[in-house]
Amino acid sequence: IELKPQNLNNIVEALFPLISADGMVTDQLIDLELWDIPNLNLDEKEIRQLILNLVRNGFEAMPKGGKLTIKTFREGSDVVLAVTDSGKGIEPEVLEKIGTPFFTTKDTGTGLGLAVCYSIAARNNARIEIETGPQGTTFYVRFKV
Ligand code: ADP
Ligand code: MG
Repeated sequence: IELKPQNLNNIVEALFPLISADGMVTDQLIDLELWDIPNLNLDEKEIRQLILNLVRNGFEAMPKGGKLTIKTFREGSDVVLAVTDSGKGIEPEVLEKIGTPFFTTKDTGTGLGLAVCYSIAARNNARIEIETGPQGTTFYVRFKV
């Protein structure tokens, strides 16, 4: 791990072609909303992995199409990355287990995506919060500046 001062928006933008190619397969629209944010001490490869894992889960939650939004913004003294899907949300009994290694509800899932996200967040001074309901799910990654 190598933490270097850099801008999260650049990492998101560099991933956009890959993410939108993924989304085109099943009619999933992608919206970016990137606000002015200060640099953070980040490991670029890890943050790429974190974003891709959240985005893949978002796409997998919308098998019949939908909208995925990736936002960055400041909140108080924190920088927040939010990945929102318009899928059907996460049931409470699933919510309490996600992030546990190998827990999956998917036939071919590994159940590792979120476990990896949680450890990447911890190493990059961030924490993850989840907001979910029948309209979809948002994963917030909140970075300490
Ligand atoms: P996997 O994707 O291989 O199942 P993850 O650790 O990425 O493993 O996710 C674990 C579980 O959390 C998924 O199987 C799914 O049930 C749930 N989940 C994760 N992200 C979402 C999401 N955006 N919408 C609905 N359910 C989700
Ligand atoms: Mg996953």
